[in-house]
Amino acid sequence: MIMKVKMILPALAEAESPFWRPIKYSLFPPLGLATLASYLSSDDEVELVDQHVEKIKLDDSPDLVVIQVYITNAYRSYQIADHYRQQGTYVIMGGLHVTSLPDEASQHADSIFIGPGEEAFPQFLKEFRIGKPKKTYSSNVRTLTGIPPIRRDLIKRERYLVPNSIVVTRGCPHHCDFCYKDAFFEGGKSFYTQEVDDALSEIDRLPGRHLYFLDDHLLGHTRFATSLFEGMKGMNRVCQGAATIDSILRGNLIEKAAETGLRSLFVGFETFSPQNLKQSNKKQNLKKNYEEAVKRLHSLGIMINGSFVFGLDDDDQDVFKRTVDWGVANAITTSTYHILTPYPGTALYKSMEKQNRLTTNNWDLYDTRHVVYKTTKLTPEELKAGYDWSYKEFYSWTNILKGSLNHEVPKHQLKHFLYAGGWKKFEPLWNFIIKTKGLNQMLPLLEAILSKVKDKTQPIEHVSNSLISKPSISYEH
Ligand code: SF4
Repeated sequence: MIMKVKMILPALAEAESPFWRPIKYSLFPPLGLATLASYLSSDDEVELVDQHVEKIKLDDSPDLVVIQVYITNAYRSYQIADHYRQQGTYVIMGGLHVTSLPDEASQHADSIFIGPGEEAFPQFLKEFRIGKPKKTYSSNVRTLTGIPPIRRDLIKRERYLVPNSIVVTRGCPHHCDFCYKDAFFEGGKSFYTQEVDDALSEIDRLPGRHLYFLDDHLLGHTRFATSLFEGMKGMNRVCQGAATIDSILRGNLIEKAAETGLRSLFVGFETFSPQNLKQSNKKQNLKKNYEEAVKRLHSLGIMINGSFVFGLDDDDQDVFKRTVDWGVANAITTSTYHILTPYPGTALYKSMEKQNRLTTNNWDLYDTRHVVYKTTKLTPEELKAGYDWSYKEFYSWTNILKGSLNHEVPKHQLKHFLYAGGWKKFEPLWNFIIKTKGLNQMLPLLEAILSKVKDKTQPIEHVSNSLISKPSISYEH
C-alpha cells in the first residue's frame, strides 16, 4: 500500500509572540520527524512541514498525519489533529508532551507514541498497513543500532541557518529534576548512543564543514565520544554542541573535542547556589569550579553559550545582577536565561503539584518566559522583571564590549564582540535574510566565520560559533 504521509512540526506558541525572533526558530530542521520518515517505504509520498519556517496548508487529504508535540505547540497540534481527523485522515502524535500527558493527547489522535519512536514507529507502520493499528505505542527496545539514515532529502535546507544539525546519542546520564529527559525515557534506558561508524557515516553525508550536535550531552559517554572524535580527525569540520561542567573538567575529552573542531559549547551553569543545585538534583554541578571550566574552554578556543535558570527557591532579588555580572566578567559569549518551568511529567512538576504551587495549566505559558508557579523569595512580578532585565542588560552594547575585553587574546575579544553583537543586535538583517529565503546562503559565511584563525600567542585553531543558541524547549545541562 502506497501512502501519502504528512509529517508536521506545529509552531511553538512563543514563536508567534511579539518577542519572536524569527532567526531563533529558523535554526534547526525537525530532525526527529526526518528520522521517523526513514522507516516509511521509498514508494510512499512524504511531506515534511515545519510551521516555524513555512505555512501549513490544511486543504489536502493525506492517508496519515504525524505530529510532533512540544508543550507550547500542544494546543496548535491538537487543532491541526482535530481538523484532519474530522475529514477522516488517520492522525498520530508523539513527542515530549504526548509522553508526559498521554491521556490529554489521545483525545486528539488515533494513535499516540510514548517515548522515543525508533522501535514503535516501524511497528505502527506494519500494523497500520494491515488495518490494525493500536491506540498507544510505547518504546520498549532502546537501541540506535541499525536505524536507517535520516531522510534529509525531506528537509528544506535553504530555510535553516543550521541545516547540518545532527544527533548521535539519545538522552543523558544525569537526572535534573526540571528536565524532560527522565519522563521521556521512563521505562527503559535513558542514555544510549549510535554505533560510532554510523555516526561518522552520517557526518560524512553532510555537506560543507559546519556541524551542530543537538545531543543533550555530547561528552556524556566517554568511550563513545573519544572514538567519535578520533574518527572525525582529518574531516576538517567545525562544530558546536552541549556538555556539562563536570565533563569539561574531567579527563581530556574536551581537548579531544577541540582538536576535532569543537568551537562552541552550550553549558548549563543554571545557578550558583548549592541549595538550588540540590533542590534540582543537579549533582553534576555541585562543588564544581565554574570559572575553571570557563578558563579551560577559553584556553581551547571554545566559545560558551551559558544557560541560567531563575526562580529556584534560593533565588533572591540579587540573583539577576549577580548572574549577568558573572557572565560578563567570565566572557560568556551568549547567555540563555530561563524562568524555572515545571514541565508535566518531571519530578519538579510532581513536587510543585504536591505543594499546591502550580498557578496555571495553560501550556502556552510553559515557555520559560512566564512564571507558572508560586515563588518563594521573589514575587512572580520580580522574577519576570528580573528575567527581562537580565537579557536586556547582558546584551547591552556596554556589556558586550566589557565581556569581549575580558578575553586575554585580542582576536578572541574581537570575535566575541562581533558574534554577540551579530546574534542579538541585527534583527532586521536576520529577518530580511529569512524573508528572502537566503538563510542557506549564510552557511558558507558561517563556515568562513568559523574557519581557522591563526593566533600568534595561541597556536591552537580558534574560531567561534556563538551566532547560534539552542532553542529553549527544555533545560539542558
Ligand atoms: S538538564 Fe541537561 S544534564 Fe540535566 S538531565 Fe537534562 S539533559 Fe541531562
